Amino acid sequence: MLFPSLVLAALLVGLCQTCLGQAGDAILEAPGSAPVPTPATSGAATLFQNVRIFDGKSAALSAPSDVLVRGNTIERISASPISVDANANVRVIAGNGRVLMPGLIDAHWHAYMASIPLQLLITSPASYLQLLAARQAEATLMRGFTTIGDCGGPVFGLKRAIDEGVTIGPRIYPSGAFISQTSGHGDFRFFFELPRRPGGSLSHSEVEGVAAIADSPDEVRLRAREQLRQGASQLKLMAGGGVNSQYNPIESIQYTEPEIRAAVEAADNWGTYVTVHAITPPAIRQAVEAGVKCIEHGHLIDEPTAKLLADKGIWWSLQPLTYDAGVLARLSPVSQKKALELWAGTDNAYRLAKKYKIRTAFGTDILFDADAASRQGTYLAKMVRWYTPAEALKMATADNGELMALCGFINPYPGKLGVVEEGALADLLLVDGNPLENIKLVENPDQNFVVIVKDGTIYKNTLPK
Ligand SMILES: [Zn+2]
Repeated sequence: MLFPSLVLAALLVGLCQTCLGQAGDAILEAPGSAPVPTPATSGAATLFQNVRIFDGKSAALSAPSDVLVRGNTIERISASPISVDANANVRVIAGNGRVLMPGLIDAHWHAYMASIPLQLLITSPASYLQLLAARQAEATLMRGFTTIGDCGGPVFGLKRAIDEGVTIGPRIYPSGAFISQTSGHGDFRFFFELPRRPGGSLSHSEVEGVAAIADSPDEVRLRAREQLRQGASQLKLMAGGGVNSQYNPIESIQYTEPEIRAAVEAADNWGTYVTVHAITPPAIRQAVEAGVKCIEHGHLIDEPTAKLLADKGIWWSLQPLTYDAGVLARLSPVSQKKALELWAGTDNAYRLAKKYKIRTAFGTDILFDADAASRQGTYLAKMVRWYTPAEALKMATADNGELMALCGFINPYPGKLGVVEEGALADLLLVDGNPLENIKLVENPDQNFVVIVKDGTIYKNTLPK
């Protein structure tokens, strides 16, 4: 009898593998958890009456208008009142002249580790950290950030849970694990964890999906494809030294051109792109030569390299990082020195971004810092040091929306993001005040964002019923 039972077991294993591998993940949908119940789900509609619109692009508000949202899209915008059937399932929001604007987009966020202290991150079970990340995702949405570009970290599960309505949070464009060379900015191993043996066991951050250490074009290609396999919408490589890492100088160039190109080819075959962490001109130039489409940071850029970005139409995802005593106090001495160097470059970086009209994205890159995460909006308000409020808000909405869409046919949220236009995805904020006149309104979302809508669903409405 032993033989038939072995056959049966083998068949069952085979069947399971077939189910999991071929039939997709549909059979594994979260059981018994209905989407968050709101009036705007399942084809229902929401009508905003008498709002002035910041559409994500224009420097001026619209005339008083009505905006009709149906399902997850903006169906109609009209300067004359939109009438709805009294019996129809339409939720009416009286704007009373308030400003309706697109949900904010943070192009450089880390949903897994924005708010978790580093010590906790390296000593706690991943299951616990994921719950904290879910809580932070809800807080992120409640700050008015309806979309984030996730520039590294294990967020595939979080994204899926949010998209399924299991938990609340922004849309996530995941990069998956940062791909880093040995000794690079994403090599988070302790000093004693050497040597790494090719094909040997993975280090902690690799097991958790935070980083993927890869040397040689072949290894980079493998790790790149693994991220795409898991649902990465774009790939993130570490192409030069960074602040929050101990064992690489900020001046270091990381990877070689063929290694970066291996990831670029893998991304390109999936219709998407590679973005890289690079701070100095040589690191930026090598990455551009290898075919990346976006540079993260770049604070120490020089004039010829800025011109190169402009000439090649490369996106520059730059963060308004300036001297911050609180952040400095939380860094190691090695990182403090590097942070001061980077912060000193920020004014010049924005000056060059403007001078050469480089396609510039807004992001915060907050890491390991709950207090800074809670002040995400202050980073946007700070942009008026270099830009008008309208320019800064455009960057954090329409422009960032275009960057998100660069992932092409694997875009997890096809449709227009970051704009208030007919046919665009309905990610909307109703603001008590005019952010084009007073951008500081975004610093206090609890008070000033009175309605928050993502994908047509109302997540917050503090207006009197
Ligand atoms: Zn980052």
